[in-house]
Amino acid sequence: MDCLFCRMVAGDVPATVVHETDRTLAFRDINPQAPTHVLVIPKDHHATVGALAADDPDLLAAVVRAAADVAVQEGLATADGVEPGYRVVTNTGPAAGQTVHHVHLHVLGGRSLTWPPG
Ligand code: AMP
Ligand code: ZN
Repeated sequence: MDCLFCRMVAGDVPATVVHETDRTLAFRDINPQAPTHVLVIPKDHHATVGALAADDPDLLAAVVRAAADVAVQEGLATADGVEPGYRVVTNTGPAAGQTVHHVHLHVLGGRSLTWPPG
């Protein structure tokens, strides 16, 4: 299987890494949609967030925890609060625009985020 994000985990494709744990990796999106746009992934391959939840709920929790840590690190939230705030998005399937089929959380912030999203 040829997976872009697995290749990034392996170090075969360059990434601007901002956070890493033994089971997760976070790097800047190459086409940022906000002043801060980081992708958080599990190092193991799972196609979607639902598949990850079913296959390895502890790893899903680790990915969400990493996203929260990235938000603090990037100044999007205080360690003990939510200010100024940020959004975590995961696209699933073509209708939602998923283009990379290795689950990833988009962490977006640094500007006011409209709701509902497009
Ligand atoms: P999605 O469309 O939800 O599957 O998100 C995939 C994301 O991966 C998009 O926001 C892309 O800009 C991003 N992306 C694609 N290739 C790279 C890359 N080489 N490095 C960083 N981000 C990438
Ligand atoms: Zn993969």
